[in-house]
Amino acid sequence: VVFNKADLRAPAANEIERLDRGGIPRVMVSAAAGTGILDLREALLRLAPADFFDNRRLVSDLVPPGEVAVLVVPIDKEAPKGRLILPQVMAIRDLLDGESMALVTQERELRNALTRLARPPALVVTDSQAFLKVAADVPRDVPMTSFSILMARFQGDLTEQVRGTLGIERLKGGDRVLIAETCTHHPIGEDIGRVKIPRWLTQYVGARLEFEHTQGRDFPGDLSPYALVVHCGNCTGNRREMMSRLHRARAAGVPLTNYGLTIAYSLGIFERALAPFPAALETFRGARV
Ligand code: SF4
Repeated sequence: VVFNKADLRAPAANEIERLDRGGIPRVMVSAAAGTGILDLREALLRLAPADFFDNRRLVSDLVPPGEVAVLVVPIDKEAPKGRLILPQVMAIRDLLDGESMALVTQERELRNALTRLARPPALVVTDSQAFLKVAADVPRDVPMTSFSILMARFQGDLTEQVRGTLGIERLKGGDRVLIAETCTHHPIGEDIGRVKIPRWLTQYVGARLEFEHTQGRDFPGDLSPYALVVHCGNCTGNRREMMSRLHRARAAGVPLTNYGLTIAYSLGIFERALAPFPAALETFRGARV
């Protein structure tokens, strides 16, 4: 139950008691004063039906039935042995569900793969770490994005995270940046969260930044010490939790972006990587002016 006009009067004590007895959540808001809105959003997130979070498509809405998506999957020493990672598997399955096709290739075979198609693919999806090479090899008129950006849309709120990406522009030397991952994998070699993103962000900002890392459920309750949160694609998590993290960041006034968006931005190919998502691209262009 939402009690509006909380700035004018409080609900009767017996009314509150009745709701509490029935286990019915209550939120006090004042639309006029703008108070309680964040509590209301949090309550809606908790109560929204599972369908609201689960009934979404990862990529097949971008690839019409019968059309081809090219998936670029680097096999480097960070890739798990003998298997694909979850976002890649999810993309293939979703394309099959959508009655479209997936052509999976490593980045060094991409040009060759494209020449073998009778017509251009509807979409190219790459691991974000191969963005630059893939952007160079894919013709400008072929839409291109990354698995991580697809996950930002699927598991969270792409438009909100696009706005969060603009927080990179405000970073300055000494700022604290939180890099958050949903799973607890052991970082090896040139790990994307531990090594590559800190390197690309530092190069972009041109000053030393303080990086901190969290994994699993250790996401901090208080985000206010951070100038930016960079979140992974949350492939092993669920959308409800990701929306809650986004909400927490918004409440703290801290921009939250994700791996793929950060990489595309730092490498100067942000607009190209957002081209398949017109609303998000428009948000970016509008927020920049
Ligand atoms: S949960 Fe995050 S860090 Fe772990 S594999 Fe998925 S995207 Fe990568």
